[in-house]
Amino acid sequence: MTRQRRVILEELRATNQHPSADDLYGRVREKLPRISLGTVYRNLEILTELGEIQTIALAGNLKRFDGVARNHYHMRCLNCGNLVDAPMEVIDSLERALQEKTEFRVLGHHLEFTGVCPACQALQDEKE
Ligand code: ZN
Ligand code: MN
Repeated sequence: MTRQRRVILEELRATNQHPSADDLYGRVREKLPRISLGTVYRNLEILTELGEIQTIALAGNLKRFDGVARNHYHMRCLNCGNLVDAPMEVIDSLERALQEKTEFRVLGHHLEFTGVCPACQALQDEKE
């Protein structure tokens, strides 16, 4: 693993904020001032292929990156875009249930809850 890739991985693992490539570029540049955004992108793709990290992509949203490679669920605020881990276990029975109903060979699943985060709820309450 190159030094650049190791620094990118360390910075991603140091946060639970699920940064975008731009966010991460800002953090990584403090340690590697000459790195380019393209290099950060490329290394994030490679780290995803290696199974070291996850790319979280949802239609219409900027890609976000997660230093936790094992499956877990997320909550996304539709107002501010905040993305956090959902405090619940992965439900393996979901895959079995689908497998029993279809010919589809289920290899995994991703689950994202959408809603309004507590901070945005508080702001909405103030406006009312
Ligand atoms: Zn919010
Ligand atoms: Mn996560």
